[in-house]
Amino acid sequence: MKNLSNLSNLKEILSKYDFNFTKSLGQNFIINPDVCPMMADACVNLDSKKTGILEIGPGIGTLTECLATKFDKIISVEIDKKLIPILTENLLEFNNIEIINEDILKLDLNKIIEEKFCGFDNITVCANLPYYITSDIIMYLLENNFSFNRIVIMIQKEVAERICAEPGSRICGAITLAVRYFGKPKILFNVNKSSFLPAPKVDSTVIEININKTNSEKILDKKMFFRLIRAGFNQRRKNLANSLSQILSISKSDIINILEKNNINSNYRAENLKFEDWANLSNDIYKLRSN
Ligand code: SAM
Repeated sequence: MKNLSNLSNLKEILSKYDFNFTKSLGQNFIINPDVCPMMADACVNLDSKKTGILEIGPGIGTLTECLATKFDKIISVEIDKKLIPILTENLLEFNNIEIINEDILKLDLNKIIEEKFCGFDNITVCANLPYYITSDIIMYLLENNFSFNRIVIMIQKEVAERICAEPGSRICGAITLAVRYFGKPKILFNVNKSSFLPAPKVDSTVIEININKTNSEKILDKKMFFRLIRAGFNQRRKNLANSLSQILSISKSDIINILEKNNINSNYRAENLKFEDWANLSNDIYKLRSN
């Protein structure tokens, strides 16, 4: 191991390759030696014989080398071609890492999973995500039915708190419900902004999302569920009867009947509803539309 989180090692590598950080790619590299081992530990699945890790944005390979000592195979996808020679040199001693120079959102991930993780009984995503596309990447990973068992990611603290908030609490948003459709999110630990070079303006939090079908199986029509939560939270200050009838073009009396049937106060706002309330509402609106 090259101990890549060590600040003087990192600075030496960056100067050797004349590397300058690209702010627009969310490049903040870890310099706190405790963080990567803790993230790698969070990916351990004791029931699994063969674990494959998909890493997004390896940077100079600080988290990658930790993952490579613990798991059978690591596929790391890095968009910045300037980092590829650095990663190749830094990770030379490992034969279980493959680097792909691509934008994670443009890669044919199904093909990669099929080709690289054939025979693996557990595939986990692990990443210190770039802030500028955190939500896009999370929704992309969840919505496309890739065969991941778990996602362990470091993201901006406020976003982590929103994702992991209990539906029905003030800080929840559409993403709280969207993530819960696909699995169970949980906050693991916080990481201070001083743990990165360059230091970002905000603190980070590592969360896990365990993928399961418990919630999605309660919902008749996925499209309607997502339309509904977007509609509800787009106008989060309005009461539900008004915002839903307007955005979904359903008469206010039909919406009020459905709310009453499900014991939901029509003056409630989106932030007052539990997951089960959203599931029942979307199922009843779907049935109304199908008649
Ligand atoms: N994993 C490293 C660490 O923790 O030190 C770097 C993390 S840094 C926050 C985010 C990394 O994601 C950068 O290396 C950046 O170049 C890469 N990145 C940004 N956008 C990306 C994308 N669309 N696809 C793949 N990698 C991306």
